[in-house]
Amino acid sequence: MDLGLTNKVAVITGGDSGIGKATAERLVREGAKVALIDKTSDALTRTTEKIQSLGEVIAVQADLTQREQVEAAKQQILDRFGTVHILVHAAGITGATGDFLEISDQEWQETIEVDLMAAVRTCRAFLPLMRSAGWGRIVLVSSEDALQPYPEELPYCACKAAILNLAKGLSKAYAKDGVLVNSVSPAFIATPMTDAMMKTQADQEGIPFDQAIEQFLQNNRPTLELQRRGRPEEVADVIGFLCSERSSFVLGANWRVDGGSVASL
Ligand code: NAD
Repeated sequence: MDLGLTNKVAVITGGDSGIGKATAERLVREGAKVALIDKTSDALTRTTEKIQSLGEVIAVQADLTQREQVEAAKQQILDRFGTVHILVHAAGITGATGDFLEISDQEWQETIEVDLMAAVRTCRAFLPLMRSAGWGRIVLVSSEDALQPYPEELPYCACKAAILNLAKGLSKAYAKDGVLVNSVSPAFIATPMTDAMMKTQADQEGIPFDQAIEQFLQNNRPTLELQRRGRPEEVADVIGFLCSERSSFVLGANWRVDGGSVASL
């Protein structure tokens, strides 16, 4: 299927790792020009150099919790590519975890700044460019946790639920301008984010990493019907479709890429 992405300019946040990186590779292979935004620096340069063998890619370092850094990133991308047609917002953190009663206001704020406000800031920066071009695609990466909250990570769950609502609301506001907004909700994908969770569990229980994954699936994700971790590329394939010409009648939808993990309809 030709996705019709040749020469489209895509911005991918969290582009240095996991789902963002796999999405960057997917879009570049389809002929898009890609700007990777991440707060990392040396690692981002290395990632970009690797993907550059596939097509036109630039690295833009920015901490998305800082409004002025988002604006500077936008300027850097405009200087290189002149416009932006696509935004995939994949930057995120697990944030504060543990007993709800033990999580401070400050810890909540730190999570909200990355997992909600960074999406607000990046949409505010790049959406007007798509609007004036009369064509745009935005994909906000949410999570299964938005629909099926896990009590030990409530700041993350609450932010991801807000992301679904943000995507739906933006889709209503800007469809008339040709900008189609959707969200994607993965579950238990093999990325550094879940590697860190599994490593902690393995260390705490003194078991091998692979056993920690099996145990987590059985005990914590019994409804993940496929009973394995997803691959970042499996999420990138869905995001790639949503960024493309082929998704021209799709908006305001939440696409689950979760191996069946969310137990309800
Ligand atoms: P990851 O940790 O591999 O990548 C996240 C990237 O975001 C990192 O490169 C990190 O540097 C970047 N980032 C974090 N804070 C930032 C900031 N302030 N400014 C700029 N960049 C920042 O994680 P991933 O698993 O690839 O997750 C990507 C998205 O998918 C996240 O939004 C995550 O919540 C979501 N998600 C992941 C899973 C999973 O199982 N991996 C499941 C559901 C949802």
